[in-house]
This record gives sequence, structure tokens and C-alpha cells, in this order.
Amino acid sequence: MSDEEELVRLAKQIVVCTKCDLHRSRKKAVPGEGPTHTEIMFIGEGPGFHENEQGRPFVGAAGKFLDQLLEQAGVTRADVWITNVVKCRPPGNRDPLPDEVETCTSNYLQHQIRIVDPSIIVTLGRFSMGLFFKGAKISQIHGQMRKVGDRFVIAMFHPAAALHQISLKPAIMADFAKLPELLKEARAELGKFTPNKQKIKEDDPKQMNLF
Ligand code: URA
Repeated sequence: MSDEEELVRLAKQIVVCTKCDLHRSRKKAVPGEGPTHTEIMFIGEGPGFHENEQGRPFVGAAGKFLDQLLEQAGVTRADVWITNVVKCRPPGNRDPLPDEVETCTSNYLQHQIRIVDPSIIVTLGRFSMGLFFKGAKISQIHGQMRKVGDRFVIAMFHPAAALHQISLKPAIMADFAKLPELLKEARAELGKFTPNKQKIKEDDPKQMNLF
């Protein structure tokens, strides 16, 4: 099975997944989307209201802000992978529970990371940060690139947090502005440059949106 086929297979499993209770209240699961191989993967917390309606990640207010931040860093959605720790919306936007995080990441996210094989993972918010930096404080480590296994991880504030707490906005903007430089560093360090093998066309943002 090719990597592309494997990502599609995972996405098909995710949209019908019943492995945890989150499936009971979801409308649409959100597998994530992006080119099969890409250098940067963003991992948010979980789908919100609009994502649950549309089955795509970061399409609400936080997503619009994420688009601006990406543009500022000189990348578009078409260049990156965007997904979440949990693929189904926690009811009422509550925090995902530890067993939901464990079930969803071990069955899906870890495989997506292995296949897409990004040089840099950007965690958005404390739940995805917690997957890589247990017990870390986001206020202390945001914007710093750290090697985790054979890739780099940068923890950043969640765009929704910056929308709600305006004092965080300069920090998240500054962290995103550093991305091009950090990507150069990561390429040099890993000796790896992965051009997108399967670029999404600008006019086809729904590449991984299967249903
Ligand atoms: N917040 C997230 O963490 N993920 C989304 O997809 C949307 C909002």
C-alpha cells in the first residue's frame, strides 16, 4: 500500500470510528488534511463546532487566524498537514479525556505522523504539546524547537487562545514568524528536504476530505 493509500485508509477508519465515546456526539469526524509528505505538520486539540459540521480541521475563527499566521510564515494550507489530537469533537468543547487522547493518538495520529514524516511538528495548545513534552509549561517553551526522536517539535499557543486572550497574540505571531528560519535549521540538521510529492491544488483545498 502506498503512503497516500495508507493515509486514505486511516481517514476512512476515522470517519466511522467507534473506539471511544466521542463518536456518540460527533457529526463528522475530522481526520486532518494535507499533502502525503510534507515538512511541517500542525497538531491542534480537537474539532470544534465548525469542524464537526464540515469534517475539516481549523475552519472556524481559530482556523481563519491560523491561515493568517501561515501566510505570515510564507506557507499556505496546501503546503502543510493539519490535524488534531482527537478526531471527534468533545461535547460542548470540553477538554479531551486522557483515555480519549490515548485511544485516538495510538490508533490514528501516531500513524499519520509516521506516514507523513514531517521534519517539524508544531503543536498548537497544551494537549498536543503534552504528547511530546510531558509536564511542560507552554508559557516557558513556546517557540523553541526541540529534537524529539528523528524530527523536531515546536510548541506554540493555540490560535483560539490568542483570540480569547489578546495578550498572547504577539507571542504566537512572533513564533510563527520564526518558522521559515527554524525550517532551514531543521533541514540542515536532518539532512532532509521533502518537497511535497503530492501538492494540493490551490483550488482544491478538500484533498483529504473524503466524505
Ligand atoms: N481547534 C482545534 O484544536 N482544532 C480544530 O480543528 C479547530 C479548532
